Amino acid sequence: DYKPPKYTGPSFEETMQTRKEYLTPALLTYYKNPIMIVDGKQQYLFDHEGNRYLDMFAGIVTVSVGHCHPTVTKAAIDQMNRLQHTTTIYLHPVIGEFGKKLAETFPKESNLKVVYFVNSGSEANDLAVMMARAYTGNFDFISLRNGYHGASGNSASLTALHTWKYPVPSDFGIKHTLNPDPYRGPFKSSDPEAGKKYAWHLKNLIEHSSPGAVAGFIAESIQGIGGTVELADGFLKEAYDIIRAHGGLCIADEVQTGFGRTGTNFWGFQNYGVTPDIVTMAKGIGNGAPLAAVVTTPEIAKTLSKRIHFNTYGGNPVSCAMGSAVLDVIRDEKIQQNAHDVGSIIKDGLNDLKKKYKVIGDVRGHGLMLGVELVRDHETLEPANTETAHVFEKAKEMGVLVGKGGLYGNCLRIKPPMCVTKEDAKFFLDVMDRSLASL
Ligand code: PLP
Repeated sequence: DYKPPKYTGPSFEETMQTRKEYLTPALLTYYKNPIMIVDGKQQYLFDHEGNRYLDMFAGIVTVSVGHCHPTVTKAAIDQMNRLQHTTTIYLHPVIGEFGKKLAETFPKESNLKVVYFVNSGSEANDLAVMMARAYTGNFDFISLRNGYHGASGNSASLTALHTWKYPVPSDFGIKHTLNPDPYRGPFKSSDPEAGKKYAWHLKNLIEHSSPGAVAGFIAESIQGIGGTVELADGFLKEAYDIIRAHGGLCIADEVQTGFGRTGTNFWGFQNYGVTPDIVTMAKGIGNGAPLAAVVTTPEIAKTLSKRIHFNTYGGNPVSCAMGSAVLDVIRDEKIQQNAHDVGSIIKDGLNDLKKKYKVIGDVRGHGLMLGVELVRDHETLEPANTETAHVFEKAKEMGVLVGKGGLYGNCLRIKPPMCVTKEDAKFFLDVMDRSLASL
């Protein structure tokens, strides 16, 4: 039972000092010496001194098809020259076309075809909770411990990672069930019944602490900020059955896992053989444009049509033009296949490093949604968080930016723009090798 570490990044005063000319002291920074990024091209970032970095984190899993992709840039500029803003109270051809194209990415039988555009993943999850409550007439909602779903009202309550929690009243009607984490949880991947056992905990939670009925359940298809945690085999299917048997809707948070990132399927939930009632997405949808969406069935959407659901910027035409271009690029440049192929090379390479360095406890994920957990002991799983911070800084010195996360801050997160090449993979693995060797 390890205590999650306290924040060890720069102090408020240090951040103030570094950024004093920008007067934005509240910005979060991962690095002791934050880098000033001024340019981006494909999978590379450049700092103010012209140093190049291989971006293996994609602005928190957001730049899906590469920095400043010319097709996306052209779509944005063309749209800016025609119309920069209207609202969804009017029809707009770009919003309509993009919505239709987006709906076509879902399996036909899912009937997921009504699209609501919003501005961020947090807002998408807030809306999904409201939809489920309005549709079912129930209130209780369930998410997974270690999940991250956003930083606004309902979404902050769905989040169950202590570093993101504020000491304010929240979580009304929201319960967090045992995380089906086959590495760190009580039921391991070696146990064929692990998924079922985690699902039993969910059922138990509903039956003991809810009035027997729930509004819904939400899960990331692979937990992102929580440390690239894959859900135990069989859990999600069982969980969906349990939730539906208690009157609730099932929501897939695809904010990080959508748009082909897991390589094998366009949507992460497809990897588990389930069909959600509502899907939320953001980040990769617009390659960095402020854009997010909630997609659901016409039957569920009908409930909302009794009310007015509106937001000023949701479905902004420039963002939608960029989103539409992203879908074209994913199709035309076989981006999902690339996520699969390059992702497999990276994962195999990381597994080789695991044999070489005892500090690597687990390598996991799919496609270009990968994670490495560092531990000091393979039995107790004592988190190697200072070692993780060291590897993270060393990699930066050698020109590779990765992400960090997990409840204990001991996971490296590898989620680059999906245009990374096999050569980039080789360079990345070499830098990881050298960073680990310097421990
Ligand atoms: N859901 C997941 C899985 C996320 O990773 C995030 C953000 O990191 C969100 C929701 C919230 O998205 P946003 O930061 O756009 O509000």
